[in-house]
Amino acid sequence: MLKQSLLYLSTAAWAQNIATNWSVAKRVARRFVAGETMDDAIAVTHTLNNKGIEVTLDFLGESVTSESDSEAVITTYLQLLDRINSEQLKSSVSIKLTHIGYDISEDLAVHNLRKILQRAKAYAIKITIDMESTVYTDATIRIYRTMRDEYDFDNVGTVIQAYLRRTEADIKALASEGSRIRLCKGAYLEAPELAFPEKAAVDANYVKMADLFLDADNGNGYLEFATHDESMIQSALNIIEKQNISAEKYEFQMLYGVRSDRQQELADAGHKMRVYVPFGESWYPYFVRRLAERPANLWFFMKSLFR
Ligand SMILES: Cc1cc2nc3c(=O)[nH]c(=O)nc-3n(C[C@H](O)[C@H](O)[C@H](O)COP(=O)(O)OP(=O)(O)OC[C@H]3O[C@@H](n4cnc5c(N)ncnc54)[C@H](O)[C@@H]3O)c2cc1C
Repeated sequence: MLKQSLLYLSTAAWAQNIATNWSVAKRVARRFVAGETMDDAIAVTHTLNNKGIEVTLDFLGESVTSESDSEAVITTYLQLLDRINSEQLKSSVSIKLTHIGYDISEDLAVHNLRKILQRAKAYAIKITIDMESTVYTDATIRIYRTMRDEYDFDNVGTVIQAYLRRTEADIKALASEGSRIRLCKGAYLEAPELAFPEKAAVDANYVKMADLFLDADNGNGYLEFATHDESMIQSALNIIEKQNISAEKYEFQMLYGVRSDRQQELADAGHKMRVYVPFGESWYPYFVRRLAERPANLWFFMKSLFR
């Protein structure tokens, strides 16, 4: 119930207006967000890289509805790629289709994504298309395939959510095509007809999907275990050992500000570890989804209000 209410609030414009002008909320959000500027994110990336941890940088924002706003977003992403290249950072980039104009038109999002992928390819930087709510699942997978197969980008990957009932079919198909897939549980408010409502069912499906992906992989696949859940991490480690998966075929991923000690342990144990580092002024929906994932984060936020 609390989770559902927070996920509703993460999409409510009125709540966003209040929170973004509220200095306490901004301060607490910093736990999960590198900062409002690209310089903040680049500084965090240097720090993590120096600890043997790779990064995926996300310029925060979603649901852009004007073409000029989407142009500004593309300019920022292109500058970000230039910085990653010139500063020799170990970082990929994560992008939401609704941030680059999908809600205006699919053609615009495809056009913008190609621009970003072209620049990224020249620098050998990988791009991941984040997965948003189920309104966008078909489009995200379709656009991912278009980029990979029609435009021949070998630096593109996407995300699959274990909470969706449709995921088994998606993962089998994507694995057999040789895809780079980030496997996460899923972070949006979805109807029970579309997504398993119980945590136990989502967890079971997460492990099943990882197994299926590695079984169906045509040899060119790459699996990114994006989770902070210790039992998911242990299952992933078991699968990697049991199926003898080589280090070039998988990595672990976590979010900035969540389980930093465990991130370091996995990196020190020789697994590729990548941290999702968001930055920018549009931190509200991202931050509220993080609160929804863990009630303790909400209490931490409430306590900060009275400090
Ligand atoms: C790198 C990365 C990229 C992602 N990309 C997407 C995406 O494109 N689309 C999408 O829908 N979702 C995405 N997610 C979010 C994901 O779907 C989950 O909502 C989120 O990771 C929480 O799930 P969990 O696997 O950590 O397990 P949970 O069952 O939510 O949590 C298990 C345990 O992990 C710890 N934990 C989890 N979340 C937090 C938190 N916020 N703060 C503190 N501790 C926490 C707690 O100890 C908790 O008990 C991404 C997650 C990661 C790590």
